[in-house]
Amino acid sequence: ASPSGRSSWDIHSVAEEMMAKGEEVIVLTVGDSDFASPKAAVDAVTDSLARGRTYYTAPAGDDPLRATIARQQSRLIGREIAPEQVIVTVGAQNALLIASLCLLDPGDEVIVPEPLYSTYPGTLGLAGARMVTVASPAAQDFHPQVDAIAAAITPRTRAIFLATPNNPTGAVYRQDELRRIGDICKQHDLWLVSDEVYAGIVYEGHHFSAGSLADIADRTVTIGSLSKSHAMAGWRLGWMVAPLALARQAERVSTWVTFGIPTFIQDAAVVALETQPDGMPELKEAYARRRQLFCDRLMNVPGVVPHWPEGGMFVMLDVSGSGLPAYEFAMGLVREKRVATVPSDDFGASAQGYLRVNLGAADALIEEAAARIADYAFALHE
Ligand code: PMP
Repeated sequence: ASPSGRSSWDIHSVAEEMMAKGEEVIVLTVGDSDFASPKAAVDAVTDSLARGRTYYTAPAGDDPLRATIARQQSRLIGREIAPEQVIVTVGAQNALLIASLCLLDPGDEVIVPEPLYSTYPGTLGLAGARMVTVASPAAQDFHPQVDAIAAAITPRTRAIFLATPNNPTGAVYRQDELRRIGDICKQHDLWLVSDEVYAGIVYEGHHFSAGSLADIADRTVTIGSLSKSHAMAGWRLGWMVAPLALARQAERVSTWVTFGIPTFIQDAAVVALETQPDGMPELKEAYARRRQLFCDRLMNVPGVVPHWPEGGMFVMLDVSGSGLPAYEFAMGLVREKRVATVPSDDFGASAQGYLRVNLGAADALIEEAAARIADYAFALHE
């Protein structure tokens, strides 16, 4: 929350209060999906439980799952990853924390392109690190500004954390951008932590993993999860891939923080990744269709400008032309039109003036939400 006690999640709370009173609200806040998790994974849980797979596994993950993730990652980056380099975690969020605890000492600085995923400040803060943000302006389609990143380095800089495809912006970082960021890491002896949870959801171009940069493999951590690509957010299954020495350290930390992941969830994760290594194509198609529906509908509406995402599951809607700050716009929108979104306050200073809209809802709801936003924007304009 800000000093005023305001938080962008106030809008979500208002939506929940309205729904508790029986009102219908279109909730496009949290990055969850309307898609069901793959049936093969659901069946695998039942099967695993029936086989009594309820005991501890190694804290770093069960061997078959680590091997499966290593295989998938090797294929993605065109370079051999050993299963020992993979640490299975409680979602990518837990991998972000474990990486932070392993890599950062109190007072270390971490550079993060902004707009940024809203848990980064808290996660880095738990490790005692200081976050230094570098704007990725909308005018550059929210792509990282590599020269500005280089200029932000100080003797205390220890790492660069980034997310590609990006939450909230949907920017899919290009190979040349990651190449240049990798060069900076090499030059200044920094870690690169690349959060790639949306790797399976790219519409324009293709996902380039930081793990593909072989010459910085000794300083790169890639983070992934089943939450987005396989509509399995509630299963809490993620991973980190790290150089061997760091993976060993992460294994010890994971022993202290979680002591492993539910065994039957890991069994199901093997099935999910083996049957659909690139995620669910129907989910990606649906999000692409909804992106089009949403952006087309709001294209010529006064005061709002949709930003076309290249990947991920969100659309950023610029509401700065409406005359209202994003928080007030979002609060009015939920109260008057019953559409809940996330105002950009949480995503950093350069993200002011945007709403983040989740595409993980049925087409009809996305269309209806866009129509209500248009009504609201027209009313403000008059
Ligand atoms: N990183 C980013 C960029 C995310 O958007 C999310 C989820 N919203 C996470 C990490 C955490 O994902 P998980 O559900 O795997 O913990």
